[in-house]
Amino acid sequence: MIKETTAQDFIQMEDKYGAHNYHPLPVVLAKGDGVFVWDTEGKRYYDFLSAYSAVNQGHCHPRIIKAMTAQAQVLTLTSRAFYNNMLGKYEQYITSFFGYDKVLPINTGVEAVETALKLARKWAYKVKGVPENQAKIIFASGNFHGRTLGVISASVDPDATNDFGPFLPGIEVIPYNDLDALAQALKDPNVAGFIVEPIQGEAGVFVPDEDYLPKAFALCQENNALFIADEVQTGIARTGKILACDYYDIKPNILILGKALSGGAMPVSAVLADDEVMLTIKPGEHGSTFGGNPLACAVAIEALEVVKDENLAENAMTLGNLFREKMNELIAKSDLVTKVRGKGLLNAILINDTEDSDTAWRICLALRDNGLLAKPTHGNIIRFAPPLVMTHDQVLECADIIEKTILAFKK
Ligand code: PLP
Repeated sequence: MIKETTAQDFIQMEDKYGAHNYHPLPVVLAKGDGVFVWDTEGKRYYDFLSAYSAVNQGHCHPRIIKAMTAQAQVLTLTSRAFYNNMLGKYEQYITSFFGYDKVLPINTGVEAVETALKLARKWAYKVKGVPENQAKIIFASGNFHGRTLGVISASVDPDATNDFGPFLPGIEVIPYNDLDALAQALKDPNVAGFIVEPIQGEAGVFVPDEDYLPKAFALCQENNALFIADEVQTGIARTGKILACDYYDIKPNILILGKALSGGAMPVSAVLADDEVMLTIKPGEHGSTFGGNPLACAVAIEALEVVKDENLAENAMTLGNLFREKMNELIAKSDLVTKVRGKGLLNAILINDTEDSDTAWRICLALRDNGLLAKPTHGNIIRFAPPLVMTHDQVLECADIIEKTILAFKK
């Protein structure tokens, strides 16, 4: 008889044959549909991470999967050595969706960030007139923009940087949510741009003051520096608007998107900018074999259509308000949770324990046992970011699961 592979076997296989660069919650998933995932034993969970906000449209959205499989049977990759009949269509679609002259299509979020940084430097030399090799980019402390050497050069998280040096020069890190620090940093005439997450997701869902982004944007424009919004996590309806920047009616000089641009079906990312910036990069100066492949184009168009047709931004806004209301009720009943913060369906609760405690981790294990999957960020913070296709009743059920789990939890 063939021995069946158990969940433990799958965990051991990953442990034995895979690099140890992640620390997953012990649950082995085998299926996803909408807001739910199932483990190998058939147990169903609410997914409250959504693959770090890549699955905003819900797992295996039928329209996205249909577009994907249809395109996969016809043409998947041409490289950019030749034209194809999907890329122009997608470029027209996405630039009109977000209101930019041009898009540079690429794959993962961090590649889009790297692209934006290169673009900002190129613009600084070609348009702004910064002397050769003097361009500087300003980052905000607590940032998370991905894992390449270039991007971690601006990280202040020792886990991201330890033993990976030497790092990229031309970077200045200033405190997040600090307009005075930004004004000071922008005095340097060699600044190409300021890159910022409208809400810092990985850092623990830090929502800046209401005037921070619009004033930061204005400061950049006054000082002839590019305002670069990394909306890889906050974009595509997650925070209750199509873009988090839409709350402030600001149009970033460079907009970075990823994750939910494909609804989680495959890596698809994009950098959007107007001609003055985008056309500074010439043929042969930047690219990627898979960037803008026909499969990605078909998937991304459908993923954005779904967001629009299903009113996911409005749903995220309404359900997010409901969710935070419920969490605030929980805070009144439990000493263990001290705060809830977020916008739309990008939220986090703060656990009343030290950052190096395992309390939040053990709460996530208990949530798992009760049918809801979430993961701590930075020790004592638990992020809650379900797919945006949730219903009102499902949010209430999930708030109930969270409340029962926390009230029954013993430190
Ligand atoms: N930028 C932000 C704001 C992110 O949250 C992430 C990933 O979590 C990235 C960039 C990197 O995206 P990827 O993991 O697809 O490279």
